[in-house]
Order: sequence, then structure tokens, then C-alpha cells
Amino acid sequence: MKNLNTEEFLFEAGAQMTFHRDMSYYNEKSFQCACGSEHDFYDYMNYSNFGTSGINAKMIVTCPKDPKFSTLIKTKYKFLVVFDKFISLAGCKTE
Ligand SMILES: [Zn+2]
Repeated sequence: MKNLNTEEFLFEAGAQMTFHRDMSYYNEKSFQCACGSEHDFYDYMNYSNFGTSGINAKMIVTCPKDPKFSTLIKTKYKFLVVFDKFISLAGCKTE
């Protein structure tokens, strides 16, 4: 996972989607957080969706333990249909 400053982080995330996608399907799937530990994802967490190609979703989640940390995660599928895991693309710590 890359550690970026806020500007680079938002650039990496790309264009934000204007509608909110339902992410409850991913509840309780763990992701590697920028703070160094793993957390379970819940769709009520403060996140933003960013467009990606196909079925994959890219979003920013805020660390549930320390809100200074944000992580850009991307969904990864097996055989295009089975959710495999979250991949952490980049992390950002705001002061
Ligand atoms: Zn965390």
C-alpha cells in the first residue's frame, strides 16, 4: 500500500461517482487499513465511491479506530463473479 498525502490520495482515487452505490454486500469483509491493522468493512462507514471499470468498485473508507487514516480500497473478484477480497491501493493520514 502506498502512503500518500491528501492531494495525491484524491488524485489516485480519481473521479467520484455522483450516486451512492449500495455496499452492504461487502459488510464484514476485512480490509488492510492505512493505520496498519485490518478492519471489517461496513457500509455505514464513512466512505466515498469512485468509478472503476466493470464490476469492481473503488472506495475510500475511514479507519474506524483512528479517523485520521483513510484507505483507498478496491474490490477484487475471482472468476468475475465471486468476491475475493479488498485490495488496499493507497493510504492517507491527515493531521
Ligand atoms: Zn485502521
